[in-house]
Amino acid sequence: MKLCKICFQPIDTGVTLKQYFIGDDCICGNCRSQFIENHRTYELEHCIIHAFYIYNEFLENLLFQYKEGRDVALADVFLFRKRRKLHDMIRHRLVVLMPSNEHKIKERGFDHLEGMLGDGFQEICHVLEKSESYKQSEQDFKNKKRIFDVMRIKKGVELPNKDFVLFDDVVTSGSTIQSAARLLAKKGEKLHAYVLCVHPRFVELCDENRL
Ligand SMILES: [Zn+2]
Repeated sequence: MKLCKICFQPIDTGVTLKQYFIGDDCICGNCRSQFIENHRTYELEHCIIHAFYIYNEFLENLLFQYKEGRDVALADVFLFRKRRKLHDMIRHRLVVLMPSNEHKIKERGFDHLEGMLGDGFQEICHVLEKSESYKQSEQDFKNKKRIFDVMRIKKGVELPNKDFVLFDDVVTSGSTIQSAARLLAKKGEKLHAYVLCVHPRFVELCDENRL
């Protein structure tokens, strides 16, 4: 019997009628119900953010288990239902992953964003880096603005003459993705950014500012 990749219960546990009709899944109905869909886009100064889900405690724990617990078996759980759509949307464009600290990647032994995207995304490039050691989760909302100063194009890297799209797992303040878009967008153009999820606080801020 096929088991849920998250809770190891039988895959048909808690499956709703809607989920049943959507078809094949790698997680059970109960776990699937914890993925809260996001149905809107967020237009910022330099980019338009397309998010698949709303960040919640379930995703927080799952991302922690995957990234910090190095549970690579979870890699394809996050975008399982979205991969084909994502693939269609970003075809013929170069996917730029938001940079993690180099030492963090070495410590983990894998790039969590590449793992999430999985096979079939050949056109991935790592052209950005953070110029100093910087741990976002320790910063408050205000201090996150600082990331504008530390994101840069990698030394010695020449930008390919292609259209870019950005990819990240969580948008919290939006400053990481904004600073990346500012570096990579052509003049007068907004980049499209695809993210696994947006923080509810970010949604609130966008509502307040009518973004
Ligand atoms: Zn489950």
